[in-house]
Amino acid sequence: MEIIFATHNKNKLIEVKNLLPQGITILSLEDINHSNEVIEDKKTILENAVKKASEIYKITGKNCFADDTGLEVEELGGKPGVHSKRFAGKNADSMKNIKKLLKLMKNKSNRKARFVTVISLIIDGKIKTFEGICNGHIAKEKKGDKGFGYDSIFIPNGEKLTFAQMDMNKKNTIAHRAIAVKKLVFFLTEQFNANS
Ligand code: IMP
Repeated sequence: MEIIFATHNKNKLIEVKNLLPQGITILSLEDINHSNEVIEDKKTILENAVKKASEIYKITGKNCFADDTGLEVEELGGKPGVHSKRFAGKNADSMKNIKKLLKLMKNKSNRKARFVTVISLIIDGKIKTFEGICNGHIAKEKKGDKGFGYDSIFIPNGEKLTFAQMDMNKKNTIAHRAIAVKKLVFFLTEQFNANS
């Protein structure tokens, strides 16, 4: 089964490829020569995920999925949430986003946070969604150089290390995207078996 993962994020692509069983082949946006960036302007993570997948489905007519992820910090009323990518402004990058978040969290004792991923799958024209949540807390300072995004300041529950201090296989046993991808794989495998 061939399926497009509508992302330009190489880290996400590697993470997801590592979680898929044989028999499901992922095509990236680079593989299909699609370079346009989808504007993530919706009010929820779910709507952004659906928008990203729908735009690629409209162009290719092929089964595809997209994910959208947000980091929700309890002390900040769930921010940055759906605005995680551009938390520090229009031209923000991960370094600027982290800097802003750590500044807002300076001297805060409630550091509880969670990553939320929603995957939107469009299969034979129908939309299915899968959610993954990883609870944890915001570290006092950046630690580690693996991963991407907010990984260097997020410590999942039950762990002492940030995601950026773990290798990808470890992150993939507990992280939000991995949880959502496992649900996606379960669904695709059932579909595949039903049709064969
Ligand atoms: P998006 O899902 O690519 O739109 O990501 C939204 C924001 O969350 C971006 O700033 C990403 O870098 C960040 N992000 C997404 N997934 C992860 C993750 O697994 N770890 C850390 N940051 C992430």
